[in-house]
Amino acid sequence: MPPPGALLDWRDPEHFDHRRTKPCALCGGPTPLRSHAGEAAHKVCAEAWITKNPVEARLGRFASDSQPKSSKDPVGDHA
Ligand SMILES: [Zn+2]
Repeated sequence: MPPPGALLDWRDPEHFDHRRTKPCALCGGPTPLRSHAGEAAHKVCAEAWITKNPVEARLGRFASDSQPKSSKDPVGDHA
């Protein structure tokens, strides 16, 4: 569960519905993004919601993808 203020990690393709957009559950704007539970929501809206509702957030409405810890970062190695 992300702590308040933390950014969600929604890299998994399951968070992106290519077929259609739905109204965001938080701001009402169209979004192709889905929570892990299938709820339509912008990632930034979900993050803002977690910050504003830290108690409810602990119930797991929005969660980050689980992160397999690896020593190699395929996108971050440009040094
Ligand atoms: Zn939204």
